[in-house]
Amino acid sequence: MTEINEDAKKWLQTLLEDSVFFNEPMSCHTSFQVGGPADAFVVARNLGVLRELIRELGQRNLKYFIIGHGTNLLVKDNGFRGVIIVLRERFNHIIKCSEDGIINVMAGAPLSRLCRFAIKKGLSGVNFALGIPGTVGGGIVTNAGTWLGSIGDILNKVKVILPDGEIRNITKEKLRFSYRQLLWENDLSGITASAPVIVSGSCALIPDDPEKIRKEARKIVMWRKERQPSWLPSAGCFFKNPDSEKSAGQLIDLAGLKGKSFGGAEISSRHANFIVNRKNASAADILVLMKMIQETIWKKFNIILEPEVRIIGD
Ligand SMILES: Cc1cc2nc3c(=O)[nH]c(=O)nc-3n(C[C@H](O)[C@H](O)[C@H](O)COP(=O)(O)OP(=O)(O)OC[C@H]3O[C@@H](n4cnc5c(N)ncnc54)[C@H](O)[C@@H]3O)c2cc1C
Repeated sequence: MTEINEDAKKWLQTLLEDSVFFNEPMSCHTSFQVGGPADAFVVARNLGVLRELIRELGQRNLKYFIIGHGTNLLVKDNGFRGVIIVLRERFNHIIKCSEDGIINVMAGAPLSRLCRFAIKKGLSGVNFALGIPGTVGGGIVTNAGTWLGSIGDILNKVKVILPDGEIRNITKEKLRFSYRQLLWENDLSGITASAPVIVSGSCALIPDDPEKIRKEARKIVMWRKERQPSWLPSAGCFFKNPDSEKSAGQLIDLAGLKGKSFGGAEISSRHANFIVNRKNASAADILVLMKMIQETIWKKFNIILEPEVRIIGD
């Protein structure tokens, strides 16, 4: 991959005008509130420019990474060498809702907006996403969800921009969802430099009694409030649940690691699978806790814990 040199900077500025920022601290764009600068940070405001950007980045061999709300992301302290792209404005609304319960939504829309919209329309099936603080695009790539369901269960189509700038609609059958991840049929995964950019998605929901959906929604929101330390910066559950009778959180708790800290980072005493940024933590602090948890769980239970959070940067 090529570095962003002066020529690349000029090109970005000409194409994007005031939508590109150089040396932008990623701590401002992630829920962990850590992370060094991205060489370039781009706010994509419309489809035409985004297409052109993706195509030319590929041709120039420049690395890029799409983010939504940065709520499943740990950017390392030295930052990201390449272009971070965030979808805003023309990318964050509900496009259409048909009579038969299909909601077409832009990738940059918050999941919470999709949930509220569905409740208002009397459509059930997406309440599981209540309280997940990311975008629809981020939710699709991470197959976000809970024990109640996940995005892969309701998604029936996505519109993407491929690395060569082509726009394509991909139907459900070609999307391989598994636990907290999406693999494209041609194995372009969401964490490679040349992954497709999700522009929008269609969700198939079921017409139901709005009052019943609302009641269920209240219960789910309460459940989260009681269990998650949502007042401290984090990226939600740090590890995927392993193939074991116990969840990652239960294993970390059993290992006696709740409340352990390093630098400004801490393993939450409310929810052991949350690493929280208690006091100006660095990404390095969080990574030390991550390693400590992995080594302890391996030694005590012979289980490998794999991060659910995506780690990028230098
Ligand atoms: C308090 C808290 C609670 C949480 N609870 C849950 C939970 O219950 N269940 C759950 O699954 N997750 C949970 N999360 C994690 C996170 O919110 C989800 O994974 C969410 O779906 C990530 O969305 P995002 O927009 O923040 O994505 P980001 O973190 O910005 O990105 C995540 C991945 O998606 C890719 N991506 C984002 N947008 C696009 C796009 N348009 N096109 C292509 N790729 C894209 C990125 O490249 C990256 O690989 C929680 C996080 C927090 C902080």
